[in-house]
Amino acid sequence: MREILHVQGGQCGNQIGSKFWEVICDEHGIDPTGKFTGDVASDIQLERINVYYNEASGGRYVPRAVLMDLEPGTMDSIRSSPYGKIFRPDNFVFGQSGAGNNWAKGHYTEGAELIDSVLDVVRKEAENCDCLQGFQVCHSLGGGTGSGMGTLLISKIREEYPDRMMLTFSVFPSPKVSDTVVEPYNATLSVHQLVENGDECMVLDNEALYDICFRTLKLTTPSFGDLNHLISATMSGVTCCLRFPGQLNSDLRKLAVNLIPFPRLHFFMVGFAPLTSRGSQQYASLTVPELTQQMWDAKNMMCAADPRHGRYLTASAMFRGKMSTKEVDEQMINVQNKNSSYFVEWIPNNVKSSVCDIPPKNLKMSSTFIGNSTSIQEMFRRVSEQFTAMYRRKAFLHWYTGEGMDEMEFTEAESNMNDLVAEYQQYQDATVDEEDYEEGEGEEDHNFE
Ligand code: GDP
Repeated sequence: MREILHVQGGQCGNQIGSKFWEVICDEHGIDPTGKFTGDVASDIQLERINVYYNEASGGRYVPRAVLMDLEPGTMDSIRSSPYGKIFRPDNFVFGQSGAGNNWAKGHYTEGAELIDSVLDVVRKEAENCDCLQGFQVCHSLGGGTGSGMGTLLISKIREEYPDRMMLTFSVFPSPKVSDTVVEPYNATLSVHQLVENGDECMVLDNEALYDICFRTLKLTTPSFGDLNHLISATMSGVTCCLRFPGQLNSDLRKLAVNLIPFPRLHFFMVGFAPLTSRGSQQYASLTVPELTQQMWDAKNMMCAADPRHGRYLTASAMFRGKMSTKEVDEQMINVQNKNSSYFVEWIPNNVKSSVCDIPPKNLKMSSTFIGNSTSIQEMFRRVSEQFTAMYRRKAFLHWYTGEGMDEMEFTEAESNMNDLVAEYQQYQDATVDEEDYEEGEGEEDHNFE
C-alpha cells in the first residue's frame, strides 16, 4: 500500500479539506459513520481505499487526516457537520490564540508553540502506514495559520521525511474575495517556502474562482461555499488517479515525474469541465470534444492567468466517466496539433491523458486538467506587485517585526518570487533552434545518407 497523509490547516484549509473528504467519501461509498455502503459487486471503490483511509475495528474507514488550527471555531463546525464524526477525534489539534492574519504568528510564535503537538499526530499516523508515499496539505496563503503555520509544518515534515512527496492545495489570495490588506505579504512569504519545501503545488486562485462564479456560473455574490464547490470538484479530479486503479499518474511521484521538468517550477494550473454551481444538476451531458475544448479553455482554469500568454512545459488530463479512450486520445492530439505553438517543442509528448470509469457525483462525465504553464507567472506577478507596493513604504511591517521577524526575510521572499517569474519567462522564450545553434557551432555538418 502507498498511503497519503492529509493535513488541513487554518480556516480555509479546514473548510476546503472537509469538503474534499465529503466528496471522496461519497465517491468511495463511505457513509458518515465510516461504513462502506457502496457497490459490493465491484471492487473499484475499495481497491485503493488505503491510499486515503485507515481501516479501523468493525470494518470502519477513517480518513488519514490531521486537522489543525490556532482557533477552535472552524474545527467545531466541522465536528458538528454531517461528516464530522468520521475523523479521528485525537487528530484535531487546535489552539485558542488565533493568528490574526499574521504569517509571523503562524510561522514563528503562536504556530511554533502548537507545531509539536501536530507533529506528534503526524508521526503516529505515519508510523501506522505500510509505505507512506507522501503528504498533502490544504491551506490558504493569505491568512496566518494555513499560511504561516502550514508552511512551518511543511518544512518540519520535509526535515523528518525528506524522501516523501509533498503535495499542496494552496489557495492564493485575491482582493476580489478578501479585504485584508496584508495578504500579499503572507502569500509571498509562503511562496518562498513552497518553492523550497513543496514538491507539487496545485494553485487555487481565489481571483479565478471568483471570476468563474461571477462570469460563467452567473452568481452575483459568490460565497466561500460557491468557491469551495469548485475547489472540491477540482481536488476530487486531481486525486482521482491516486484513488482509483489506473496507469497514469498513479502515485505522487509519477505525477511529479511527468509534470516537473525543473524542480522549482512545480506550481500547476488546474482546470475542470464541465463547470457547475452548487446544487445545480447537469441535464445535458457533454461529449468528449466539448469536454476537451472546455478543459483547455482559459475560462475554466482555477488560476487567473491566460495559457495563451505563455507555453505549456507539460500537461496531464484525466477524463472520468464512460467514454471511448480512443476518442479521448484523438481529441487531445487534435488540441495539440492545432495549438502547437503553445507547447514547448523541446519536450516531446509533453501531454498525457487517461480515463477513469467512475464519474464524479451528479455528472455523467468530467475532465480535470493539470498544466505546468509558463503563463502562471501572471498570477505571481500580480501578488508580487501588491507586495512591492506596500513593502516599498514598509507599510504594516511592524506587525511582523513585532513577532520577531527580520526584514531580510521579506526581501528574500520578494526576490525568490521574482526569480521564479524570471525562470518561467526564460523557459517560455527557450526554443530548440537556439540550443542546436549553440551546440552546433564550429562543428562540421553531418549528412545522413
Ligand atoms: P487562517 O485561518 O489564519 O489560515 O486564515 P484564512 O484561511 O481565513 O486565510 C485568509 C485567506 O483565505 C483569504 O485570502 C481568504 O479569502 C481565504 N479564505 C478563507 N476561507 C476561505 C474558504 O473557505 N475558501 C476559499 N476559497 N478561500 C478562503
